Amino acid sequence: MTLSPLSFDALLGPWANSADPAYCRDQEGRLLAVNQAFARKFGRLAAEWPGTPLTEILQAEDAAGLASVEVELARHPHRATREYRCDTPQGWRWFAWEKTQLCDTAGHVLGLRAVGRDITKQRLAEEQYLKLSRAVEQSPVGIIITDAEGRVQYVNPKYTEASGRTLEDILDANTDVLRDGHPDEASFRAMLAEVRACREWRGDLVSHANDGRQIWESVQVTSLRGPAGEITNLLCLREDITERKRLEQDLRQAQKMESLGTLAGGIAHDFNNLLAIINGYSEFCLLHNADAAQVKKSLQEIHRAAQRASGLVRQILTFSRKNEVRYAPFDLNQHVRDLVALLAETFPRTVAFDIRLGDKLPPLLADQNQVQQILLNLCVNARDAMPTGGTITVSTELRAGVDLAHIAGVDVNKTYACLRVADTGTGMTPAVRARLFEPFFTTKPGSQGTGLGLAVVYGIVTSHKGFIDVESTLGAGSTFMAGLPLAEMIISMPAIAAIGEFPGGTETVLVVDDEVSLRHLLEATLTAKGYRVVTAANGLDAIEYLSHTANPVDAVLLDLNMPGANGVDVFKVIRMGRPEIKVLILSGNLTGEARRELQSLGQNNFIQKPYALDDVGRHLRALLDERVAQSA
Ligand code: ADP
Ligand code: MG
Repeated sequence: MTLSPLSFDALLGPWANSADPAYCRDQEGRLLAVNQAFARKFGRLAAEWPGTPLTEILQAEDAAGLASVEVELARHPHRATREYRCDTPQGWRWFAWEKTQLCDTAGHVLGLRAVGRDITKQRLAEEQYLKLSRAVEQSPVGIIITDAEGRVQYVNPKYTEASGRTLEDILDANTDVLRDGHPDEASFRAMLAEVRACREWRGDLVSHANDGRQIWESVQVTSLRGPAGEITNLLCLREDITERKRLEQDLRQAQKMESLGTLAGGIAHDFNNLLAIINGYSEFCLLHNADAAQVKKSLQEIHRAAQRASGLVRQILTFSRKNEVRYAPFDLNQHVRDLVALLAETFPRTVAFDIRLGDKLPPLLADQNQVQQILLNLCVNARDAMPTGGTITVSTELRAGVDLAHIAGVDVNKTYACLRVADTGTGMTPAVRARLFEPFFTTKPGSQGTGLGLAVVYGIVTSHKGFIDVESTLGAGSTFMAGLPLAEMIISMPAIAAIGEFPGGTETVLVVDDEVSLRHLLEATLTAKGYRVVTAANGLDAIEYLSHTANPVDAVLLDLNMPGANGVDVFKVIRMGRPEIKVLILSGNLTGEARRELQSLGQNNFIQKPYALDDVGRHLRALLDERVAQSA
């Protein structure tokens, strides 16, 4: 069909001069006429288009959708809209084409007329939006969006799956979701302050899944900003890292056992020496007719050896126990002193220790086992770096973050308690220095090294939000410095009375222990200090006595592991029948489980065996005076 230019305009009708591109085509898909706007958009004169198949400007993959348009146009109201991409000299663009049926004067269908709008911008924005919302909806990480005040506006399906709470539940219950997992109000406030100051907050939090299981989550919170820079929303991402934490814990435990193993030989040797002293002096007194002065001197030697032995045992016990991670205030200097004493006993005599403890170190909020592990691993490495001997200098000091800003991981706003271990050993090459913290990186031959020591140190330091720094000179030695941030709030440590005194009293104390010599020891000491003392050789005896006696009992010193009724059973009976009685638990093997059970029953007073007598005395006195609410 050929048409005159005039009839082109007739076909296009009112769109001949419109600003939107328009075309007419026949039923075979060949163009009949296009307007000026079309000609401009697609880069060829209007007169050149008639006869061109429409598919020439169409993106091939979008062409399929066109077939159905004829059918739709045949029906009332003879209109249809199609969106597809067209090739223009500027590249492809999205168009929405509004199509109407085109008929001649006799009513025969000639084809269709289409008027287009360039919708590229909207289409891309829409696609982007869809992509983003799909990413959020299907994200493997829990996502929460709140308003600037922290009121929830959106939670994604992953969050609902993990927590069991839908957006509706949260809105109905008016829950403060961002607070979830924060151990206390201060921690939550600190997070809000950080986010409001436009910084990102990250932390690992413990919370409970909807099946009651305890889960670890890595949580990130940031603020979202509006065009003027104002905070419009808070974005919180929560990822379940329970499995990773468990593996980390297993690794730490395994590594701890490994370092303990390296010490065991030394410890056994040391123990033998101590036993030799104890045996020797006691035999001397028993076999020879020793006079009072000699007996006294022997007892002093025996006492000193036994003290050292119990120090060793206490260290090994605290260290080898598989504790769950527990952040509590603790005295870094005290731990350094204790552990270095143990190491000094067990390291070769050619290795000397030099301790320099900073004074006025406030208590740290940290896991004591993990901090001990840092020190142990650094010292073992220092020893290994000095095969022919040398000096290990262990020092502690307080440092401001601003002075350490060059070290990765340091927050200039914080103050750090720094633990430094310096050796006079081999030092290391830059190549070793670069790989130091990699798990399984070791330069030690055979089975001497596993390469886990420093990887574990790194993990511990990071989880305490601290840092680790190394300086080393080949041939001269290395210095490792670990920094732990001070607790924001200084938590008051229970005041400890001067060592060496066993305070007296007149109250009645029931001593429950199946170990006869320990029972006698406590009985004798307490009696000497003025207390009235009753003893029970096992749990059943204790229960029997408590339920039948009319005599007052003010306090009970209670062992846990006993045949028959154990300490926990006795404790329950006391709490039920005689709640006014003060109880102090003395145990050599307090498992996390027993501790938790006792704590859930309100018991917080524990002393680890082997104990120092005066320690028991002071705790007992404080309990009776109701001064110590808690001790660990
Ligand atoms: P391992 O002690 O089992 O080899 P670590 O992770 O503790 O594993 O240490 C990794 C490596 O770092 C060691 O093999 C050693 O080469 C190097 N290294 C660690 N501490 C020191 C140190 N104080 N002096 C020299 N080299 C050290
Ligand atoms: Mg090591």
